[in-house]
Amino acid sequence: MKFSFSNPTRIQFGQGQIGSINTLIPKDSHVLVLFGGGSIKKNGVYEQVENALDGYNWESFGGVEPNPTIETLDKAVALIKETGVDYILAVGGGSVIDGAKYVAASAVYEGEGWDILTGKHTVDNALPIGAILTLPATGSESNGGSVISKKATKQKLAFMSPLVYPQFAVLDPDVIKSLPHRQVVNGLVDAFVHVCEQYLTFPQNAPVQDGYAETLLKTLIQLGGKIDNKDDAWRANLMWSANQALNGLIGSGVAQDWATHMIGHELTALYGVDHARSLAIVQPSLLRVQLDTKSAKLSQMGQNVFGLEESDDIALRTIDAIEAFYQSLEVATQLTEHEGDKQSAVNAVVEKLKGNKMLSLGETGAITPEVSEQILNLAVA
Ligand code: NAP
Ligand code: FE
Repeated sequence: MKFSFSNPTRIQFGQGQIGSINTLIPKDSHVLVLFGGGSIKKNGVYEQVENALDGYNWESFGGVEPNPTIETLDKAVALIKETGVDYILAVGGGSVIDGAKYVAASAVYEGEGWDILTGKHTVDNALPIGAILTLPATGSESNGGSVISKKATKQKLAFMSPLVYPQFAVLDPDVIKSLPHRQVVNGLVDAFVHVCEQYLTFPQNAPVQDGYAETLLKTLIQLGGKIDNKDDAWRANLMWSANQALNGLIGSGVAQDWATHMIGHELTALYGVDHARSLAIVQPSLLRVQLDTKSAKLSQMGQNVFGLEESDDIALRTIDAIEAFYQSLEVATQLTEHEGDKQSAVNAVVEKLKGNKMLSLGETGAITPEVSEQILNLAVA
């Protein structure tokens, strides 16, 4: 095992922690508050931010949409350049925080911002970022990943950089009281799949990573079985488990998959499927197609997470249990909601994967566009 692990994001966890941001953002900063479609103006979060920023020089930019687009974010970049902003405060879910990472890197890059997503430009500088999380799901508040869409070409691509980890992340479980049920469920599914992407590969004698991953999976299943957004401990545990699911720790030193995410991104880019829901559509079929490489870990997951008895078909029963978990949350595990022709959807996704050079996905690189097609055919059947 060989790895380098650093997670520099300070976590400010608990009720009332939004007020602490003025001890974390340097007083002479010129801050840009980046936010989404307005939920923070209705639930009192914006007001708390305003109070906390008393005495600072700050601007605000709202309207970052779910699956944030470069078209919108480039307007924030222009505002930064115009006003001399030197600190980005993201207030929102994964979309706003991912957007903040792009904006922070693009504002100090002379070329086309999209170069950061295509890999033409490797981020070598970025403005500092702070995050106030309002939706537990993505882990974006304390990782170096960002996923950005381009409306013009219906693309959704990711970039990673150690330079865009937020310096701090406020996780106040009270701010998620206002979340619609759909987003709560999306968060549970996204976090669950994040753990699977780093755990469901092949055995590597990594009991620390495996044990922590299994605890997170069991916690998410328990939380999903008794959704109670009014309960303080329930909200706190969701916020902490979604954060830990993708902060780099459980993935250190082990093989990682991420094919479900890459295929799911195309479903979102083409048809606007919610991120988490795209994962629930792809993952069970992907696991069935990849049964051979994944059977040992599926068997381990079946026993340690779902409490299944060992048997010849335990790997398949584990996939059924994963699928049943999503269905218990009323999240579809096939492309049922798609209105157009299903076969053309499969073809379109495969073409997109090829166009975006997603030619060898998964922990062994075995998921070629042909394998993706097999997976998608199973997911629309
Ligand atoms: P989101 O797109 O940030 O937000 C979804 C919706 O929830 C928005 O309409 C938002 O409304 C609303 N919302 C957020 N907080 C709320 C609150 N406290 N009360 C009421 N409504 C609230 O959802 P997300 O699932 O967190 O992020 C999804 C994005 O993250 C996708 O683009 C996905 O690809 C990406 N992602 C990133 C990573 C990573 O590691 N960086 C990992 C997985 C996924 P407003 O806009 O009005 O606030
Ligand atoms: Fe995700």
